[in-house]
Amino acid sequence: MPTSIKALGTQGSDQPIELLTIERRDLQPDDVQFDILYCGICHSDLHLAHNDFGGSRYPMVPGHEIVGRVTAVGSEVKRFKVGDMAAVGCIVDSCGTCPACHRDLEQFCSGEGGTSLSFNTPDKYLGGVTFGGYSQAYVCKEAYTLHMPEGMDPAAGAPLLCAGITVYSPLKHWGAGAGKVVGIVGIGGLGHVAIRIARAMGAHVVCFTTSQGKVEDAKRLGAHEAVLSTDADQMKAFASRVDILIDTVSAPHDVNAYLNLLAIDGSMVLVGLPNEPLQVGAFNVVKGRRSFSGSNIGGIAETQEMLDFCAEHDIVADIELISADRVNEAYERLEKNDVRYRFVIDMATLA
Ligand code: NAP
Ligand code: ZN
Repeated sequence: MPTSIKALGTQGSDQPIELLTIERRDLQPDDVQFDILYCGICHSDLHLAHNDFGGSRYPMVPGHEIVGRVTAVGSEVKRFKVGDMAAVGCIVDSCGTCPACHRDLEQFCSGEGGTSLSFNTPDKYLGGVTFGGYSQAYVCKEAYTLHMPEGMDPAAGAPLLCAGITVYSPLKHWGAGAGKVVGIVGIGGLGHVAIRIARAMGAHVVCFTTSQGKVEDAKRLGAHEAVLSTDADQMKAFASRVDILIDTVSAPHDVNAYLNLLAIDGSMVLVGLPNEPLQVGAFNVVKGRRSFSGSNIGGIAETQEMLDFCAEHDIVADIELISADRVNEAYERLEKNDVRYRFVIDMATLA
């Protein structure tokens, strides 16, 4: 018999977050079951709750930055025991046999059904769609469950499960490190963690923000330099100087102003998901042999690697811990770019 639990979700794109009852599947032999302690609020939760990309299904329980304590393990589970800390990010299943899965890139699974996500993709066990981490408990296959590093603050570490891996993966792929100038565009949930990770990788870190207050906070976060992107003179000073730009902006914006910051052979990597196509001027890429590309979260093995890297370098998110009854307020504030820098729900307050 599936277990009924409390959750926070929405019944439609224009509906508030409310208390719902959902079901979790019976424990399978290869499953880990855990009580959720903390769940981060990613801007993608907001995009999907509001059906920004089309295809959202309701009722929807968002949340893919999930940390908790194991309450049961299936008979075949080897790497987790009751009482351990466990975490789940965006990916909860994939085919395991396609070329992408063979390369540990489960986020690009091309097998039947593609990548199963922690919420809003078809639920192979119960039918309907998967329900995410704004809830009391989760059941996930062991192979997609992550270990929270010992000693890491579980609330401040939760945002690493999406924000952390989404910036770690491209920083590593495009070779951020000593001798490279890395630019971070947008200092939100993803951006502030990106500053810390790029700095720990040894790069020279410059961040670009539309918020004057964040220019003042950037050095504390670990940036070497900070630019108010609405100031043309400040932007001009960085023309043709940046090797790798990670663009985390959630709304439509002019990417050409940032392409012009790239050095020869520089790459601009889009991770933000504006819901409208972006225009790229030909001369902004042909000049300087520049690349405009993108990246989507990261695979399971790389997510564990990122968690361990962050533990080693004392990296967590700056969070505002909220109770379950404040999620609607948090959504309104996130929409208005009013959070320093990630909301995390204290799931004990849902009980
Ligand atoms: P967030 O906390 O809201 O941060 C986004 C930042 O973008 C804001 O803090 C702001 O930074 C800047 N910004 C917002 N509106 C802007 C505008 N109109 N013009 C210019 N800058 C603006 O969001 P997040 O959780 O970090 O997520 C960022 C984006 O990444 C979202 O679209 C999300 O869906 C997406 N995402 C993608 C992946 C992936 O795998 N590709 C994974 C997770 C999230 P400043 O105040 O510094 O300007
Ligand atoms: Zn996310």
